[in-house]
Amino acid sequence: MMKGIGVSQGISIGRAFIIQKKEVTLTGVLLNDQAEMRIEIERFNKAVGNSLREIESIKNNSSSLSDDDKAILETQIELLSDPEIKDGVIEKIESEQKNANDALLEVITGFVQIFENMDNEYMCARATDIKDIGNRILKNLNGSNTSNKQVYGPNTIIIAEDLSPSDTITLDIKLVTGFATQVGSRTSHAAIIARAKGIPAVVGCGSGLISIKNNDLVILDAIKGELYINPDDNLLNEYTIKREAYIKYADTLKTLKDVPATTTDGMQVTLTANISGVEDLADVFDNGGEGVGLLRTEMLFMNRDSFPAEDEQFEFYKKVALQAKGKPVIVRTIDIGGDKNLPYFDLPVEQNPFLGYRAIRICLDRKDLFSTQLKAILRASVFGDLKIMFPMISNIQEIRSAKSILAEAKAKLLQENISFNAAIKVGIMIEVPSAAITADLLAKEVDFFSIGTNDLCQYTLAVDRMNEKITHLYDPFNPGVLRLLSFVIEQGQKNDIHVGMCGEMASDPLATLLLTGMGLKEFSMSAAAIPTIKNIIINNSEIKAKQVYKNVMEMDSSESVLAYLKEIAG
Ligand code: PEP
Ligand code: MG
Repeated sequence: MMKGIGVSQGISIGRAFIIQKKEVTLTGVLLNDQAEMRIEIERFNKAVGNSLREIESIKNNSSSLSDDDKAILETQIELLSDPEIKDGVIEKIESEQKNANDALLEVITGFVQIFENMDNEYMCARATDIKDIGNRILKNLNGSNTSNKQVYGPNTIIIAEDLSPSDTITLDIKLVTGFATQVGSRTSHAAIIARAKGIPAVVGCGSGLISIKNNDLVILDAIKGELYINPDDNLLNEYTIKREAYIKYADTLKTLKDVPATTTDGMQVTLTANISGVEDLADVFDNGGEGVGLLRTEMLFMNRDSFPAEDEQFEFYKKVALQAKGKPVIVRTIDIGGDKNLPYFDLPVEQNPFLGYRAIRICLDRKDLFSTQLKAILRASVFGDLKIMFPMISNIQEIRSAKSILAEAKAKLLQENISFNAAIKVGIMIEVPSAAITADLLAKEVDFFSIGTNDLCQYTLAVDRMNEKITHLYDPFNPGVLRLLSFVIEQGQKNDIHVGMCGEMASDPLATLLLTGMGLKEFSMSAAAIPTIKNIIINNSEIKAKQVYKNVMEMDSSESVLAYLKEIAG
């Protein structure tokens, strides 16, 4: 048995098909003169052109592409046309006499490292796009056949180190019933595509996966994140029954799309989604999401060489507002810094970037940038139900300063005779312990709170959320974290303001009843998680949730809390 992360639920049983990647390495060969450099630049430009044409051709000629597939191909077309990669390679050829192969490998590796180190799973996963286009250009540079059509039969389980976007897009889902990869996370491409195509998948299984051979019998349990190779008859029978039961359960989830998220005794909660752009919205509504609990605006600022101007930002927010069709969208103002860097923004090198110049701290310091974003959001607010949310608030003064810059932005728009929603709701993220502990004070200043457990957990426990060595200490069920959550929700209720949660804990089925019992009113998560959470809410009562909450708050360790929550989940 091997363990990984189940990223697209389901169980499948099938035969292994191994996809092996050819390693491309640096050649170390240096160019001799200008003439050789010119040839290399020409070869490189041709390879980029051919790669662009190949992707365009996949995009235009495949009838079975999903919206996710198309979004990936569009991102890749944008990256291929991005001067940063092209100029970087040409610069290396010209000034370091590198051949095109080596120059490209070095530039791609540099970008991949930047993205992989970002403090945001979504942005980390973009590294895969860059690797994928790098491989495509390399294949074209070296003149090898770019067609990676695989030959496999029905009931195939793909086993790979990682699946690139091109691999996943070209998977034949009539034949592939699941896949497992050595690397990857919940937001890697392979995971996103698996969820979109409804294929069970387990990622991050580690290097043990290489022991699997073609045609081995594999049970893939993506619910538990487990993989069994060549199981005995007993296990096979057990899993055949489990798979049937799961298929029935999944069919039930599909019927919940339009069912309200109300407990059996009438407590209503709102289930919304976390998104990064307009292309994520279709998935939100397909899964029955009632709006957007967190629009991360960082995407708008990445992959470019200067800050987007007010008009460009306005177009982005307007598109989201319009396509949300009147449903609420919480727009979080820019959350850069920490290790979310912008290549064109000269952030200082810091000893402790997570405790440094980031998010609202940058915005209050760089009023020009903040005011531009606020004006753009305000202008878009007449096209839908937009709300504004400030991240990383740690004291009341920051809220007051941010609100005063917002008031100035409104005044400027009035002067310019541009319409906006003057009564736009303003909230803050509760993700710093000082904000959670003073929730009673902060609640008087804003219309809503949204709890960011990803950061709240790392700051409360002093555990870096990106550090793999200490992931076992990163624990949202720690009684210290739970007390903070309970206090924030209680203070929200007392002060009559809305409290939601947009950290990953909102999508953890083990936490659903506990948070409902605490009185959490909105759960915002990745769209695909919504039906599972809804299913728990509609099958339980508020009375039971309150009892679960009471019992949990009497426990002294997360081990007891988790054991209890697992027991009641059955
Ligand atoms: C959080 O901290 O919980 C959160 C939702 O914000 P991010 O993951 O973007 O830091
Ligand atoms: Mg955060």
